[in-house]
Amino acid sequence: MTHYSAIIVGGGQAGLSASYYLQQQDIDHIVLEKHSLTHTWRNQRWDAFCLVTPNWQCTLPGYPYAGDDPHGFMKKDQIIAYLDGFIAAVNAPVREGCAVQRLVARPEGGYALSTSLGDFTADQVIIASGGYHTPIIPRLAERLPAHITQLHSEQYRSPQALPAGNVLVVGSGQSGAQIAEDLHLAGRKVFLAVGDAPRCARFHRGRDVVDWLADMGYYDIGVDTHPLREGVRDNTNHYVTGRDGGRDIDLRRFAKEGMQLFGRLNSLQGTTLQFAADLADKLDAADAVYTRINASIDKYIAEQGIEAPPGVPYTPLWVPGQAATELDLADSDITSIIWCIGFQPDFSWVDVPVFNGRSYPGHTRGVTAQPGLYFLGLPWLHTWGSGRFSGIARDAEYVVEQLVAVHADKACQ
Ligand SMILES: Cc1cc2nc3c(=O)[nH]c(=O)nc-3n(C[C@H](O)[C@H](O)[C@H](O)COP(=O)(O)OP(=O)(O)OC[C@H]3O[C@@H](n4cnc5c(N)ncnc54)[C@H](O)[C@@H]3O)c2cc1C
Repeated sequence: MTHYSAIIVGGGQAGLSASYYLQQQDIDHIVLEKHSLTHTWRNQRWDAFCLVTPNWQCTLPGYPYAGDDPHGFMKKDQIIAYLDGFIAAVNAPVREGCAVQRLVARPEGGYALSTSLGDFTADQVIIASGGYHTPIIPRLAERLPAHITQLHSEQYRSPQALPAGNVLVVGSGQSGAQIAEDLHLAGRKVFLAVGDAPRCARFHRGRDVVDWLADMGYYDIGVDTHPLREGVRDNTNHYVTGRDGGRDIDLRRFAKEGMQLFGRLNSLQGTTLQFAADLADKLDAADAVYTRINASIDKYIAEQGIEAPPGVPYTPLWVPGQAATELDLADSDITSIIWCIGFQPDFSWVDVPVFNGRSYPGHTRGVTAQPGLYFLGLPWLHTWGSGRFSGIARDAEYVVEQLVAVHADKACQ
């Protein structure tokens, strides 16, 4: 069979969530997945990876987290076990190893998909291919000495898997900060180029900050009502960790303990890396967000008259004096560089005119202007949880509702 009422591209949590709702509506469909189901969680996370979001936020449709540690943070093998349970429960119709190479609208209506396993057609298509496609690596990487091992964050596995010697981590977002910590805890000498990412506390006033923000309704704010509107999609994730039951990540503490911090990586001259003199500003900006989030929780507690233990104001543990802006690779014995500066989305295979000037698909809650074409699972597609475990059920249900309405209209014609 090559024609379906609906085709879902991508078999991650987003694609499977869409299948869950399509099955409930009895809509014939198939999920096309180029690797294997939930491939990214299995193959693109480091060994010590654990969730940053608490387990109770794992609310995949029909399969909410049911373990005994709702306020804990699942480790990689536990996440995979959770996803295995979800895959079995959804029992989606799937073609694995099927890469969609081109998607076009057909003149007679519906869509044609060219794939590595042949051609398919569908009345409607849900693109759930994730938001993290092409690892970003700056072009200066091409000029680095050949003996230096270079990895993107999605390829990093463990300190032991790197050659002996020191490590430069570039980028301090969620992945960079956690990978730098992983190496630091293993006793490796780490150099860290600090970027723009903000940070937040793990716990404040006796509870996980995520719990407070959930009560405050933050996770229900849609892009349409968020103060930044669609600009919120450009925000970098806050760094914090769920490791060992959850704690803050404070780069100043790492610096006190021997990690060497730099500002933004700018250039490479010979074997010398050059950094912006903005480390103090970056650390201050991250702390300002941390303090602001805690203050918003304090305000909520006061307004609601909630009894909660007092908060502990943050005092910087370390300040960069005259921060170094140059690092010679040979002198510093750096043998590995880990690029943690994110990903670029790649929808080049989608040959349908729905993209804006920045190659981002135009949509409202995943519904594009092209009839019968939907996106799902993108960060902040609708809410903070859209690209995470917590919000995908709501988004998938909504997108499938729209798809079902179109399907019903077509049936009446
Ligand atoms: C390092 C990291 C840490 C994260 N931590 C958390 C966390 O703590 N809590 C949380 O809730 N979320 C977290 N997330 C966010 C989110 O939950 C994951 O990104 C999740 O994998 C998103 O699921 P998805 O189904 O939307 O996309 P993906 O998991 O990316 O799945 C998309 C699937 O589509 C397939 N595909 C892509 N293109 C094609 C094509 N052309 N044809 C066929 N198949 C295709 C891919 O192979 C893939 O399997 C994290 C993300 C990252 C990167």
